[in-house]
Amino acid sequence: FNSYLTELPTTIFTLMSQLAVKHQAINLGQGFPDTEGPSDIIDVAAEALKDHKNQYAPLVGLPELREAIARSNQRFYGLEIDPLTEVMVTSGATEALAACFMALIEPGDEVVLIEPLYDTYLPMLKMVGAIPKCVRLNPPDWKLSEEELRKAFSSKTKAMILNSPMNPSGKVFSYEELEVISRLVREYDAFVVCDEVYEHLTFHVKHIPLMTLPEMRDRCVRIGSAGKSFSLTGWKVGYITASSALISVIAKAHQVLVFSTAPNLQRAVAYALNKDDAYYQDLSTELEKRRDFLRNGLHRLGFQTLPSDGSYFLVADISAHAGQKSDVEFAQWLVEHAGVAVIPVSAFYDAHERQPPQNMIRFAFCKKMEVLEKALKQMEKAL
Ligand code: PMP
Ligand code: GLN
Repeated sequence: FNSYLTELPTTIFTLMSQLAVKHQAINLGQGFPDTEGPSDIIDVAAEALKDHKNQYAPLVGLPELREAIARSNQRFYGLEIDPLTEVMVTSGATEALAACFMALIEPGDEVVLIEPLYDTYLPMLKMVGAIPKCVRLNPPDWKLSEEELRKAFSSKTKAMILNSPMNPSGKVFSYEELEVISRLVREYDAFVVCDEVYEHLTFHVKHIPLMTLPEMRDRCVRIGSAGKSFSLTGWKVGYITASSALISVIAKAHQVLVFSTAPNLQRAVAYALNKDDAYYQDLSTELEKRRDFLRNGLHRLGFQTLPSDGSYFLVADISAHAGQKSDVEFAQWLVEHAGVAVIPVSAFYDAHERQPPQNMIRFAFCKKMEVLEKALKQMEKAL
């Protein structure tokens, strides 16, 4: 067996979801909406199933979806993208990340990451032989220190991963922060894998792809996910936008990983990407209401919350209630005693390097209002 994998723990999302089932708890842990995605998108997928869209799709994706992705880049960010050579469809953003790392990294290359970070980055990077260099955001305002970021770069830096809007912090990087990143990336001649799966889930701040900054067009690989943009997380349809030189090598990795992605779902995602502005506006307005409702409720219960301007997630400081308990212990206590599952934020750090902070938990607010309300009531009773 591969010893790295045998020692890799089961993902915290699965563990907490299993505990939620065991304790019949409300699952505010794993980030998925508890309602179906838009029915018209699902109808298009169902029709495509019956319309013989069931054999292998082209390796880089259906032309209609690649065109929709290119148009969407133009519509939201003014990016001119060639649908024939500069986009590729993947089986979720997860596969997109794996394909990018396989394509860009050679053993010994250093990769700069920002903690707290999404939990697949480190294992994937280690499996391709990368050396991770992590920089921590500083709570409670999730500030990025330019000085610390600079320290993470070296002549061995091959790439950086930038997740904005960010999981689990909900941070959306500002133009000024992106300029700092862009300066360093150019100075050290590195690529950036931009995980932008929450690009359309922002609350009164604008998501700015790093790719749109001067001289960044050919250094960035921009990753999106239909799962997040259309509340269909189980579909696992993702997409990559990058220069043709990068796409051609990332496509080789995709070729050996999965070769192609379900064509019926691709057709439906092509349809979905063309949705009008009202759709995208409603998506973020609805989520923002949920964030506010949960945040206000947590404040009433005495928790402090950290800023979240995007994504499905809100992080709370547990110091007022946890006593001596770590975030993991408190999360366990909450699921058992309040019937509410959350994710301990220490799971989003590289624990081998430095002790992670243990005073924060992550709530997913992409749930029905009545579910959030019930969760708050149950917590109030238990605390
Ligand atoms: N990146 C981040 C930051 C995520 O939160 C997720 C959510 N699972 C993914 C990537 C994976 O997206 P997908 O479900 O499209 O593979
Ligand atoms: N991205 C989701 C989250 O952060 C979970 C995805 C998964 O379970 N792998 O909660």
